[in-house]
This record gives sequence, structure tokens and C-alpha cells, in this order.
Amino acid sequence: MKLFKEIYKLIKKYNYIVIARHIGADPDALGSQFALKELIKENFKDKFVYAVGATASKFRFMGNLDKPENLDLSQTLLIVLDTPDKKRIDGIEDINDYGCIVKIDHHPFVEEFANIEYIEECSSTSQLIFKFVLENKLKMTKKIAENIYIGIVGDTDRFLHDYTTNETVELVSKLLNMSNIEFTDLYSSLYSRPLSEVKFQGYIYQNLELTKNGVAYIKLTDEMLKKYEVDSASAGNMINDLKYVNEILVWVFFSEDKKMDVIKANIRSRGPIINDTASKYGGGGHKYASGARLKSWTDADNLIKDLDEIASTYSAK
Ligand code: AMP
Repeated sequence: MKLFKEIYKLIKKYNYIVIARHIGADPDALGSQFALKELIKENFKDKFVYAVGATASKFRFMGNLDKPENLDLSQTLLIVLDTPDKKRIDGIEDINDYGCIVKIDHHPFVEEFANIEYIEECSSTSQLIFKFVLENKLKMTKKIAENIYIGIVGDTDRFLHDYTTNETVELVSKLLNMSNIEFTDLYSSLYSRPLSEVKFQGYIYQNLELTKNGVAYIKLTDEMLKKYEVDSASAGNMINDLKYVNEILVWVFFSEDKKMDVIKANIRSRGPIINDTASKYGGGGHKYASGARLKSWTDADNLIKDLDEIASTYSAK
């Protein structure tokens, strides 16, 4: 693949490399980020490589983030992973300060911001990083393989989602054969959660509202999150579990984040395409898995109305 070769050449050229990914880090964002950082360090021993962005304590077992200081950014390569648009890049003040920018992403295209953009809609950015490993015959440690595996499993929700293809499964098989990782051991780190979160899930299930066209939603206020001792990211980890409920076609969790002064919306669908609706509210994402950061509960109500409309049109087809 021509672009992978070009990206490899750029990595070879630059001694200082910063790797970023999207805000609200998830296992694929972090898995691809840590895997690429370690790959560069393992295969080019003299490089300085930094993984930047806010920490997510839940996923600390995957690796540590860096806070680079006094870098000459004009001589630094910035690699942005798993992020289709500038506004969602975490931990970078101004991308224009960097000598060169590379994007590797599996989301639908939103905007061009890098000198080289490798975009392929597939299961995960971690899948792309593994293809990069194969293409360039890179050396891989056990930790690298584990982070790639976690990234793929995280974003496909254990191979449930529609971006899971023959290629995904073939690549995972290759990854396991090459690395011999004990992949079932990784699940306890990835999925362990406190009882408070399970009780909170019970609250969500008990209190879901359903529109007449099959849009399920719940509004989780700061007060409610405090009561259940969970944070505004917790509901997002549970959104995929409603995928196979007969009465639900589209579903959305709203979680208030007082600190950031936003209401996070996690949106999912098993039929209607939702990312256009998410974009209307400043968000975006995949056809059936999207998100947005809203300014008010009025926006949340309007989003529910819009989703109900697309659910109605879809059902009428
Ligand atoms: P989440 O519900 O946070 O798991 O996000 C689902 C998908 O929507 C992911 O592909 C995200 O990259 C995308 N997404 C989430 N929040 C936003 C946002 N505020 N703006 C654009 N895309 C988003």
C-alpha cells in the first residue's frame, strides 16, 4: 500500500513524533495510540515518541500518556489516529505548529487536515495499525499485540458490529498466531467494573423512555450520576448493550457533564442512519454509532424529535 510506505518513510525521517487521538478516549483510540508508539520505539530505537491526550483512568492498564516539553514542533511529526476532524483531536494546541501531519482513521471522512491521510472504513483504527505492521514487516512486542487486540475487540464490541468483516477476523487470527497473546486474560482488565455501575445500569433499564417510533432515551443528570457514584462517561460504556431489543430501533443516552458544561449524547441504531442527525448537532460518527456534545436539554429534546422522525421514515419504507 503506497500510503503506508509513505507514512513509514515519514516516521523514519522524523526523530520527534507526537501521536494524538480523539477526545473521550476509548479502547480503540488508546490501543492504536499505544501500539503505534511502542512500534516506533521498538523498530527505530533512537526516536522520541510521545502519546498525548487526557488520561482515562479506566484504561490505564493499556499504557501511560506523555506530556512532552520544549519540543521544536516545526521539526516534529504529528500522527493523529482515530479522529476524522480537527475539533476532536485531544491534547494538541495547534496542529499547524507541526512540521508534518499524518492521519490514520477508520471513520467516514469529515475533513482533510493532514499532509497524508490514510482513511479506510473498517472495524477500528487498531485494525489499520496491524495492517501497517504487516505491510512494513515491523517487529511487534506482546504489549503491542495486546493493545491492538483490545482496540479491535473494543470498537467491534466483541465482533458484534457491522464493520466486523472476514478481513477483521483473518487479521485477528494472524495477530494471535504471530504474538501468542493470552487474549482471554485481557477481558478482566477491559470489562471489570464496580457494582455501582451495574446498579446504575439497572436504573437506566428501569427508566428508559420509548417514543412511538422506537427511539429509546434516557436523560442522566449530574445529580443522578452523583447519586450512583458514576461519571459522565459511564453510560457510554453501556450503550451497546441495548442492540438487540425488539421494540428499540434507535437509542440515545444523555449524560450531563457539569465540569465541561455539556450534555454528552451516545447514539446507536440498528436500522436508520444516524450520523447525519448527529452532525446537525455538532457531533458525528459512524452510520449506526454516533455521538454529540450538546449545550442544553432543549437540544436533547430536539435531537430526540429528529431521531424519532428518521425512525418513522425508516419504518415506513
Ligand atoms: P460514543 O457514543 O462516544 O462511543 O461514540 C460513537 C461514535 O461517534 C464514535 O465513532 C465517535 O468518534 C463519534 N462521536 C462521539 N462523540 C462525538 C462528537 N461529539 N463529535 C463527533 N463525533 C462523535
